[in-house]
Amino acid sequence: MEFADILHRCFRCGYCKFPENYQDFNCPSYSRFRFETYSPGGRMWLLRAWLNGEMKTSPRLAEILFSCATCGNCVEHCVFPKFKDDILHAFLAAREEMVNQGTVPPAVRDYLKALQVHGNPYKLPRSERGKWQAGLGLEPYSGQEYLFHAGCVGSLDERGTKMARSVAGLLKKLGISFGVLGTEENCDGNEARSLGEKGVFQSLIEQNIKEFKSLGVKKVITLSPHAYHAFKNDYPKDSYPFDVFHYTQVLAMEAKKLSALPAHASLRVTYHDPCYLGRHNKEYQAPRKVLKSVSGLLLLEMGRVRENAFCCGGGGGNFFTDLLGSGPESPARARVREAAETGASVLAVACPNCAKMLEDAVKAESLEGKIAVKEISEIIQGTA
Ligand code: SF4
Ligand code: SF4
Repeated sequence: MEFADILHRCFRCGYCKFPENYQDFNCPSYSRFRFETYSPGGRMWLLRAWLNGEMKTSPRLAEILFSCATCGNCVEHCVFPKFKDDILHAFLAAREEMVNQGTVPPAVRDYLKALQVHGNPYKLPRSERGKWQAGLGLEPYSGQEYLFHAGCVGSLDERGTKMARSVAGLLKKLGISFGVLGTEENCDGNEARSLGEKGVFQSLIEQNIKEFKSLGVKKVITLSPHAYHAFKNDYPKDSYPFDVFHYTQVLAMEAKKLSALPAHASLRVTYHDPCYLGRHNKEYQAPRKVLKSVSGLLLLEMGRVRENAFCCGGGGGNFFTDLLGSGPESPARARVREAAETGASVLAVACPNCAKMLEDAVKAESLEGKIAVKEISEIIQGTA
């Protein structure tokens, strides 16, 4: 297994499951299950025994491995700088081994099968993919400055499509030159990668690169931080170079125009950093700059933010596989309780997966009426 050598370097001190002030558990799977095997160090211990043949592959082992939300907290906070960057690589390599052996949890198997057969996890035909943009008057991509990529959740999920419509609508209002692919858009493949399905990910990379090349795409705006991460870090730029922006980065460039929009009547907002924009790509500023440009908006930060943000539990494919579940100790429910403690009436998000995870958690916690989950462009436009 690739990166197997690092499993021997971890001395299981446990610091990686905390934020930098050690006051909370910050590894979502450990926080949810409170067993050492669900922590980064515990997982490495299990993998070591597994690779040494001291432990057989089992549904339980697979579930523990696939419950990691790939949030990157362990990479950020491991005390061992020489190997910390490879912790997550080792977990993904182990997932690849399990995919190759055909021993993944049923929910992971179903996700990967749907992606292979239908090109999306919702098992919907390609003809459904363009419906989110109905009535917005968006142009098909034909050489505009940017290509706007809505992704599977933004194109096909009920909450995701609301967000895609809101973001694309705002970009249009701001006069940004962009086009969309509609039914011709493909999945970016980030979740296939994080669930260890290298073959499917590679084939999606090839499809997307081929399409971008044939259309001459030079700049892509993504709705999802997950797509942003994959396009930016995993697509081979030597075969076809293109620039990638998360939509909040494009909005941040338009902050002056945003601050000229009509003022909100005193809105108290807290912001949830999505792991694939924040920790994985160090973009903490753009969404905050956008929020601070909204007149009448007061930004109240939670205790765990930026490098120390607590994942909503939707990363690493868990948004689809739900291996962390939805009980009171689920990461999403813990996160909305933390958001409500700030006194904010709005929890701002910048990821369609976070939007859905946290919105469901607000309902489960009976916090409706106290705090509402809104995506940043929805706050700006006073919608949702
Ligand atoms: S991964 Fe790093 S911080 Fe975590 S238990 Fe191992 S050595 Fe300690
Ligand atoms: S990536 Fe996140 S969920 Fe996975 S082991 Fe590390 S801290 Fe836990």
